[in-house]
Amino acid sequence: MAGTFDRHRRLRSSAAMRNLVRENHVRVEDLIYPLFVVEGTNIKEEIPSMPGVYHFSLDRLKEEMEEIAALGIQSVLMFGVPEHKDYCGSEAYNDEAITQRAIRQIKADHPEMIVIADTCLCQYTDHGHCGVLQEGQVDNDETLKLLAAAAVSQAKAGADIIAPSNMMDGFVAAIRQGLDEAGFAHIPIMSYAVKYASSFYGPFREAAHSTPQSGDRKTYQMDPANAREGLREAASDVAEGADFLMVKPGLAFMDMVLRLRENFNLPLVVYNVSAEYSMVKAAAANGWIDEERIVMETLVGFKRAGADLIITYHAKDVAKWLRGE
Ligand SMILES: [Zn+2]
Repeated sequence: MAGTFDRHRRLRSSAAMRNLVRENHVRVEDLIYPLFVVEGTNIKEEIPSMPGVYHFSLDRLKEEMEEIAALGIQSVLMFGVPEHKDYCGSEAYNDEAITQRAIRQIKADHPEMIVIADTCLCQYTDHGHCGVLQEGQVDNDETLKLLAAAAVSQAKAGADIIAPSNMMDGFVAAIRQGLDEAGFAHIPIMSYAVKYASSFYGPFREAAHSTPQSGDRKTYQMDPANAREGLREAASDVAEGADFLMVKPGLAFMDMVLRLRENFNLPLVVYNVSAEYSMVKAAAANGWIDEERIVMETLVGFKRAGADLIITYHAKDVAKWLRGE
């Protein structure tokens, strides 16, 4: 019999042997933790559909940031939720708005922390779309000017990376030009290059209060049925000067992570989105799954597909698990 088949089990014979030949690892440095900041004081309010994820006012954000830093997480993704919303999303590019104040505060308290600023208009517009509307349609090129202004304002506040999520055509080029002209040529752009019009964002929209008041985002976010289109989107962003590429959401779009990995050499980010998190939390609360093992298997799956960095609401738990806590 010997020699007629392969003995794959030799390399799985013990925990030490498996550790020796393991191909992919999740490190705490790979994790980016999203934060939701609101106006007001003494607010730490759990988002009902996302157990363990909170809205923080700036005063309560301090304790959260202490915990994040102590866990060894070195990157956060900032979402500001303003009280005042208007037609053109003015708070997105107001230097004194909640997002900008939060960035300044974090950089003052934790200068070593990488603060990534989500750059979009949907949290700031009263209609909830990611751009300005003209006769009910999102006006792409008018929106670009506002996005560039928002990015410059965030960079001024101290953001280390600008992460535009709006899916307008030309957003990387417009933001790059705006940053360069304002003296921020050194600030990288993490483009949400391949972002789908997905149902997996449901809980997030509750968190960011950003559900569109009319219509949907299908004229700018991608059709979940399309893969080749994602390569065109990514190629445009690379040509326009993106420094990182992102795929969002993660689990149902793992093939896109692999396709981008095989086609581009930029650092690749995957967003493990809100519904992916909420479904795990709900199943774990019912005792149906082993939360830690499910989450670690998911994250190593992202790495195996080719992701370098993972934006995830599980980041704090993962940091603890990686330390054996
Ligand atoms: Zn948006």
